[in-house]
Amino acid sequence: MISSDLFERAKKLIPGGVNSPVRAFRSVGGAPFFVKAAHGATLTTADDRELIDFVCTWGPAIHGHNHPVIRDAIAAALNNGTSFGTPNPYEVEMAELITTYVPSIEKVRMCNSGTEATMSAIRLARGFTGRDKIIKFAGCYHGHSDSLLIKAGSGALTHGHPDSAGVPASFAQETIVLPFNDRDALTAAFSANPDAIAGVILEPYPANVGLIRPDEGYLRFLRELTAQHGTVLIFDEVMTGFRLAKGGVQEIEAITPDLTTLGKIIGGGLPVGAFGGRADIMDRLAPEGPVYQAGTLSGNPLAMAAGIAALKLLADDEAYARLARLGAQVQSAVAGALAAKGIAAQVPQTGSMWCTYFTDQPVRDLTTAQTTDAELFARYFRGCLDQGVYLPPSAYEACFISTAHEGAVIDKACEIMTDVIKTL
Ligand SMILES: *Cc1c(COP(=O)(O)O)cnc(C)c1O
Repeated sequence: MISSDLFERAKKLIPGGVNSPVRAFRSVGGAPFFVKAAHGATLTTADDRELIDFVCTWGPAIHGHNHPVIRDAIAAALNNGTSFGTPNPYEVEMAELITTYVPSIEKVRMCNSGTEATMSAIRLARGFTGRDKIIKFAGCYHGHSDSLLIKAGSGALTHGHPDSAGVPASFAQETIVLPFNDRDALTAAFSANPDAIAGVILEPYPANVGLIRPDEGYLRFLRELTAQHGTVLIFDEVMTGFRLAKGGVQEIEAITPDLTTLGKIIGGGLPVGAFGGRADIMDRLAPEGPVYQAGTLSGNPLAMAAGIAALKLLADDEAYARLARLGAQVQSAVAGALAAKGIAAQVPQTGSMWCTYFTDQPVRDLTTAQTTDAELFARYFRGCLDQGVYLPPSAYEACFISTAHEGAVIDKACEIMTDVIKTL
């Protein structure tokens, strides 16, 4: 077994054997597999197993893996060098695409990861308002910067360390954590901290805690409240940007945030992040303004070329309609099989994202998400993996579908998931 050998070697030199914690499979048991190639909807493991992939590199691979158009774009850029440390033409085209598709973004700055994007957006909100406090929501994950790693979702949740060691209590004090979908908690936080809240950051559809939808009117309420208080509203669309619509959740819900963070899909599989929004706020960034933010590899030509190709493949809205049909197919197969088996579950789905909570409670915040039976999820996960379907190795992560899943692949995956559910 090559994966197990690699993992043994990795564990000696890399903490936990992995470069990002959720990859270690701690919450589902067993050892992770290593991947040597990925094409379309399929991963090929180091052990020569073929797996139908619903992790899609945690969201970026909306066109499937190694899409020929994206690969060609990277290859063409590669011919001219990998990094210049000066402005390059791709950055301009990327900024034009992002600002066209996401109208709330008047100006945009590229960086290298979603974590950098949210960290920088928070600094900018503080620099713009001259205030220190920020509000985030329990279960929302915004990367691993100090101010935001408090009651976070994703790996931080799975591993049971919602508050990381190494974050000074004095930093954490500047972050107010509220339950999602709770208007009274928001009103109370603003009353208790008059003229002190620089920004509110949220995943408008929290999806690092499974998949939660905002209650009717909640996002509008948040928009009005933040506007009233001169607080910067930051939509973290690192995951949802270009995943559900070209304009993200803000387009679907018709809400205009002040700042937006992006990542994942806009890098076409290469490391990228971006943050942008109102020009008057963005112009507070260096060199125009006093808020410092920088990056040696920011706007990297290979990453820009990959991202531009990925975004252009989404230009036609038909791609989203196709993806949504695949999402609906999976939802009905999984929910139907669970109901037939008599297992209490929630299977929220929107577009090409879904998740499975093993609970009889409707999930609307972190507390209700945590009623999911994580042990049952782990059995479901392992059953699917044994049969060739790779789901995210955590009860609190969303599954992603790509355009490459269309056709026989999605049919086969639904059949496997349905069969596994019968054995639970
Ligand atoms: C993935 C993610 C991040 C962090 O992005 P990285 O590129 O992993 O640093 C931030 N916010 C959300 C909503 C994400 O899903």
